[in-house]
Amino acid sequence: MAFTASVISTKEWGASPPKSWTPETLPQYIVIHHTATPNPPNDISRGTLAGAKSLARSIQKAHMDGFGWADSGHNFLNTTGGFLLEGRHSSLNAIKRGRSVRSAHAGTNKGNESPGIENEGTFTTYQMNAHQWNALVELCVSICSAAKIDPDNIKGHRDFSPTQCPGNWLYSQLPRLRQEVRQRLGLSVEEILREGDTGLKVKELQQLLKAQNFNPGPIDGIFGAGTTEAVISFQKFHGLDPDGLVGPATWSILERVSKQQQKPTDGGSVPLTPQPLSMINLLDTYKYYRGLPHQTQAIEWLQQQLATQSLLEFSQKWRNEPSEPFLPLQEGAVNSEVKKLQQLLQKQGFDPGAADGAFGARTKAAVIGFQRSKGLEGDGIVGTVTWSVLNLA
Ligand SMILES: [Zn+2]
Repeated sequence: MAFTASVISTKEWGASPPKSWTPETLPQYIVIHHTATPNPPNDISRGTLAGAKSLARSIQKAHMDGFGWADSGHNFLNTTGGFLLEGRHSSLNAIKRGRSVRSAHAGTNKGNESPGIENEGTFTTYQMNAHQWNALVELCVSICSAAKIDPDNIKGHRDFSPTQCPGNWLYSQLPRLRQEVRQRLGLSVEEILREGDTGLKVKELQQLLKAQNFNPGPIDGIFGAGTTEAVISFQKFHGLDPDGLVGPATWSILERVSKQQQKPTDGGSVPLTPQPLSMINLLDTYKYYRGLPHQTQAIEWLQQQLATQSLLEFSQKWRNEPSEPFLPLQEGAVNSEVKKLQQLLQKQGFDPGAADGAFGARTKAAVIGFQRSKGLEGDGIVGTVTWSVLNLA
């Protein structure tokens, strides 16, 4: 299968020439990102072609002027209107030949040697519209096909470096993305049941869940929200990836536990007593208790067994330094990021009023002033681009 996705080239969107040309690589993965810019109706591209080109230009400008990079950091951009645009120069030409262009989107060599796709929006809870989703599938199908990448190697930015990117919602959709790409490529697909499915198989699933005291609601063969919740609880209980999708791993445990049950109880909301762990492994133990009501109790007990010095070293070594602010910031926000924003604006000679952490009209006006002074679109919303330019100004 050839590369069939329609991608707007750097030439067509009016990219600036790169400061230098980066070498080609043999890609192993596809790395999915979000731009952390506002969602519709305040999206930067406004779903239009002209907006998409303008977004590509402003990101390139931020990456080159703000970060001092050679060119756009990503290889491809997918906007809210479902427009696909080349990022770093030569990415399109290279991928059609099964190569990628070394870029700067993933924070590690391993990721940068593979094509990175920026998806316009902030997908922490917000869900991507169908246009944009279909464009993403289309692009991944073309890349996997041209570069012979297994769809299972479609990863999120957070798989390569510590970041929130591509947002919890979009990250949770990667199994669906892999499956859709696999299907489009005509590769064999394991049957996966998901919300929206109906039929006997769903009914069987509901019966198995119910027999194991995970309440899926009515046993009606309709995979609705109640069934998803029961599946997620079941997956958490058994240390599986809690994605609410019933694939081979979830099925086999459902069936195995069902066979083990001597006297199945009916109804009730008390989960099964955990089976004895076959191996003492802290990570497995943690996965086993994750999300259960007695998780806190279990961790507190464990904590009492550990030396204070070990806990101290552990927390210093693994403390989670926030690597990104929770963007976008916009009017109405009140938090410490806003305070930092106001201080940065003041430092740049703009007047957001007092640095009180409250994003009001005056702060918005100062943001607009700053954006215009840097050639950015003056929308008064601080997304990744504005934030990075501001921090490096
Ligand atoms: Zn990212």
